[in-house]
Amino acid sequence: MTNPEHKIADAFRVVALRLENALEEGRRSSRIDANDLLETLLAVADQLDPPLANNVATTEACPNCGERNADRLAWQDDDETVCCAACGTTYRPGE
Ligand SMILES: [Zn+2]
Repeated sequence: MTNPEHKIADAFRVVALRLENALEEGRRSSRIDANDLLETLLAVADQLDPPLANNVATTEACPNCGERNADRLAWQDDDETVCCAACGTTYRPGE
């Protein structure tokens, strides 16, 4: 069943779960500011309407939260690791 309301509810659940994990692991403060709210809203929008054209391959997605949006996966200065803006995980793509 692909009911639009369920899709929206699921998008909020996925984003809330990611946020909860980030809080539990201490990668995020429990205080929020306008930037956190903005990032959360954009994460919900991406969940509902994934920007497919700009997604990296599934093998290069964030191993922690599954982020695939290339705009949210930043190569680090070592040119070997990528930092995920969604959850803060740094990883080597393709491993
Ligand atoms: Zn991530």
